[in-house]
Amino acid sequence: MLEELKNIKTSVESRLNEVKTLEDLNELKVKALGRKGDITLILKRLKDIPPEQRVEVGKFANEVKASLERMIEEKARELKKLELDLRLMAETIDVTLPGLPLIKGRKHPLTQVIDEIRDIFTSMGFAVAEGPEIESDYYNFEALNIPKEHPARDMQDSFYITEEILLRTHTSPVQVRTMEKMAPQIPVKIIVPGRVYRRDDDATHSPMFHQIEGLVIDERITFAHLKGTLMLFAQKVFGEDVKVRYRPSFFPFTEPSAEMDISCVMCKGEGCRVCSYTGWLEILGAGMVNPRVLEYGGYDPEKVSGFAFGMGVERIAMLKYGINDLRLFFENDKRFLTQF
Ligand SMILES: [Zn+2]
Repeated sequence: MLEELKNIKTSVESRLNEVKTLEDLNELKVKALGRKGDITLILKRLKDIPPEQRVEVGKFANEVKASLERMIEEKARELKKLELDLRLMAETIDVTLPGLPLIKGRKHPLTQVIDEIRDIFTSMGFAVAEGPEIESDYYNFEALNIPKEHPARDMQDSFYITEEILLRTHTSPVQVRTMEKMAPQIPVKIIVPGRVYRRDDDATHSPMFHQIEGLVIDERITFAHLKGTLMLFAQKVFGEDVKVRYRPSFFPFTEPSAEMDISCVMCKGEGCRVCSYTGWLEILGAGMVNPRVLEYGGYDPEKVSGFAFGMGVERIAMLKYGINDLRLFFENDKRFLTQF
């Protein structure tokens, strides 16, 4: 039995030198030391030999077992290190290779235009106000002097959530909300940038688009203030030499109301396709706040007056950058967006 143990030991030792992988090593370990391994089988046979030999053989068997375990463990460490070394060699990083380009994000052209317009008005002392996009019929229509059966509602075909709740069709509800909060304090001087929603979808209309609304309320505010403010705005956005004209218009929440045109940015007033050969481009609606709207907001129209204006951000951006299809803004095509 001692001979057998010696043979097992020598055979395992010699085979250890040939083992190249952890898998092979594990196989060898199971064969020698496993539950049905060579050593285990010998230990099981100990009970069959005479007691006087049993102690000696048992002792030796345990020594062999311990020594084999040590050797196998050592070999395992060796193989693991080798494996790691090989992997490190294979995965070497060549730090001299050119890096992957980092793509830097930028602001969406609409955000750029909103930021620019906001800066122009805040430099004139306007504050920025915001309001909910899910709005009540009251704030979206009623308090802006657009009662239920008013034909002006047709122009703003809306997304209704319930009979009384809808996605706001313009930023004007924020006028009323701001007045309610501030009345009777003056002056009110706000702009309201934000998303609005209407049931339109074509090259010049999107179901979601952006407006910037403005409202000024103070004592003795006149149409001259409106013209001065919007002239300065037009010059800052479209250049010092831009011309401006007003045409009478109708909005339920202003009286009198006007559309403001600027001289065509493409042809400088000569007439071209963009301006339908008129030399003028319509860019915003404005007017003196209707006294009834002032009352809805909690102000006394005998004491204060105001003006308001509203513009489509997409329209301004299209004119500013010469973009001919509104949908380009919302397709998230990087070839388009990286041009700005
Ligand atoms: Zn033109």
